[in-house]
Amino acid sequence: MEVKKHINISVIIFITLLLLIMGGYVFFNIKTFVTYTETNVKKEENKSEEMDNTEKLLIELKNTPYYIEKRWERYLNYLEKYPDKSLEEIVRSVNANIDYEFYQHDIDTDTSVGPLMLVNKFYHLTSDYKPKLVKMTGEYTKGTSYFEVEAYEHLKDMINNAKNDNIILYNVSSYRSYETQEKLYNNYVKMDGVEKADRYSARAGYSEHQTGYTTDLNTASSSDHFENSKEFAWLSNNAYKYGFILRYPQDKEYLTGYKFEPWHYRYVGIEASEYIYKHNITLEEYYAYFVEQ
Ligand SMILES: [Zn+2]
Repeated sequence: MEVKKHINISVIIFITLLLLIMGGYVFFNIKTFVTYTETNVKKEENKSEEMDNTEKLLIELKNTPYYIEKRWERYLNYLEKYPDKSLEEIVRSVNANIDYEFYQHDIDTDTSVGPLMLVNKFYHLTSDYKPKLVKMTGEYTKGTSYFEVEAYEHLKDMINNAKNDNIILYNVSSYRSYETQEKLYNNYVKMDGVEKADRYSARAGYSEHQTGYTTDLNTASSSDHFENSKEFAWLSNNAYKYGFILRYPQDKEYLTGYKFEPWHYRYVGIEASEYIYKHNITLEEYYAYFVEQ
C-alpha cells in the first residue's frame, strides 16, 4: 500500500512539473510570436510610409515645370545632396547639368541644330568646327570680324532698328576660331590663374564665340558697367525680337557657369529667343527641355 501511494504521489508531481514546463514553453513562444508579429507589422508600416513619401515626391517632381522623365534619378540624387533646394531649383539645375562638374562631363555639341546648338562647360565643339561665315561691314563692327551668314541678317536688322531709336550698337568681338580662343584663354590663365579665368573665359572648344552666333556688343569689360547704359536697357527690351538672348544673365552663374556679361548676345532664332525671354530661363534649360529631349 505504502509503495503504491508513493508511486501515485511521484506520478502526480511528475505530471504537474511536465504541465508547468509545457505551459511555460507555450507561454514563452506565444509572447515571442506576438512581439515578432508586432515588430513586423510596424516595419511594414514604416516601409509603406517610406514608399508613400517617395511616390509623393516623384509625383511632385513630375508636376514641376521642365521635368524630364529620363533625368528622374539625377533629380533625386541632387535633392539628396541639397535637401533645402526647391524642386523647381533641383529640376532647373539638373537640366543645366549642374549635378556634374564643369569640364568633367564632356558631350559633343550637336551642330546639326544650327542656331540652337549648345556650347558651354559640358558641350564642346571640335577644333576644326567652323560655321558658314560672312565678313561684317564697317558700320556694324569695330575691327575685322566674321559672323554666321544667316544670323548676320538678324544682327544687322537689330543694329539698324536700334539706330532708329538713337541707340548705337556695334560688334567688338564675334567669331573666334579654336586657335584664337586657345591663345586668349591661356593668356587669361597666366594673368589670373585657372579658377578665376574659368569664370569669365572659355577653354578652347567650349567658347560659343566659335559658333559664329555670338557677339559682344560695344564692350567686353566688366569695368565699363554696360549694364547701366541706355544701350543695355534697349537690348534688354528688344534683343529677343531679333532672335538674340542675353546669354549670361545676372544671378544665373550657377546655371550658365559664367559671370554676368551684359554685352554678350547669342543668336538662337526668334522662336527660342522669345520663349527664353518671356520665361526667364537660360539656353541650358531650353536646350535640355525643347531640343535635346
Ligand atoms: Zn562674349
